[in-house]
Amino acid sequence: MPGKRHLFAPGPTPVPPEVLAAGAQPVIHHRGPDFRELMRRCLGRLQQVCRTENDVLLFTASGSGAFESAIVNLLSPGERVLVVCAGEFGQRWAALAATYGTDVKELRYAWGETPRAEDLRAALADTGAEVVVLVHSETSTGVVADVEPLARVAREAGALTVVDAVSSLGAVPLETDGWGLDVVVAGSQKALMTPPGLSLVTVSAGAWERAARSTTPRFYFDWAKHRASLEIGTTPFTPAVSLVAALDTALGMVLEEGLENTFARHAALGRACREGAKAMGLELFSPDEERSAVVTAILTPDGIDARELVLALRDRFGITVAGGHGELGERMFRIGHIGYYDVFDITTALAAVEILLAEQGAEIERGAAAARALDAYGETVRV
Ligand SMILES: *Cc1c(COP(=O)(O)O)cnc(C)c1O
Repeated sequence: MPGKRHLFAPGPTPVPPEVLAAGAQPVIHHRGPDFRELMRRCLGRLQQVCRTENDVLLFTASGSGAFESAIVNLLSPGERVLVVCAGEFGQRWAALAATYGTDVKELRYAWGETPRAEDLRAALADTGAEVVVLVHSETSTGVVADVEPLARVAREAGALTVVDAVSSLGAVPLETDGWGLDVVVAGSQKALMTPPGLSLVTVSAGAWERAARSTTPRFYFDWAKHRASLEIGTTPFTPAVSLVAALDTALGMVLEEGLENTFARHAALGRACREGAKAMGLELFSPDEERSAVVTAILTPDGIDARELVLALRDRFGITVAGGHGELGERMFRIGHIGYYDVFDITTALAAVEILLAEQGAEIERGAAAARALDAYGETVRV
């Protein structure tokens, strides 16, 4: 195994040295003034990145923990929730909501399809659901949904929206207030360039109203408890203080780059990855469109097992990419390109894939992928 490791998964993602250093500072106490200042600054930065004036609650938990908080605070047993499912994460949220005894209806698509507003309108009319779960970036397929029209349809039907933005926040445009999203869920370990362990929700006034009525039992994830603690600059339970320090530094870096510049960089990275893969003669599974800038899902040539490719990338080159879920595992691999990431990460990933596929006898023009990726990146952003 080579010494240098390259993490090209869609989460966890590489963490900048400044962020690692912030997380390595001496631990501070979560009931003291230092933490209060850190927490207030961090939550303020999260509001800016989420583009919201709504409350932001931060949990010491992975993204699924924050999602669980949304389900238990918004829904009582027996209440109807509509989950838009077009991949692994949509299915996870349907299973989670069912676990708490809610009445789950699914608007189901084949994996890799992009949800459509007119389907959602019909499903809402059909089910009368008062809460809709949407996945912004379905990391299992590479599809980034056009959330704005979906949220508009939900609002017109009087339903609250819960948006999984775990892999999209900080990578592609997301307007919490502008698009009227009631609850946005995200995690530290994707485009926010921080180690795993923290997650967040934004909570609109309408979501607070529902939370006041929900009868589902909850303790650790009780939003009202978190809000009461935040008013005095702390959290109800001991938070991962070192991760909060790391996240605060990472958010500072995102805001310094500027959100619009960050989005443009991600769009260019996605384009570079897609164009490079196609130049190599590979077929894309994820949509070949500008919006899908989080992770590129690629199919291996016939007869080449993607699972072996993923293992060989790791063992030979120290490169981690993601495999495909379920049946897609044999043919699909996914290159994540969010957060602390540049175009040379793309060319490194593609060059390594090229070597291994050529060894397997695939017909590949050597060098074409990296050259095309760099050109495609440079089409909007100077390399
Ligand atoms: C990573 C991810 C999650 C969260 O998963 P955790 O492992 O619980 O942090 C949720 N949704 C999407 C779309 C993701 O990419």
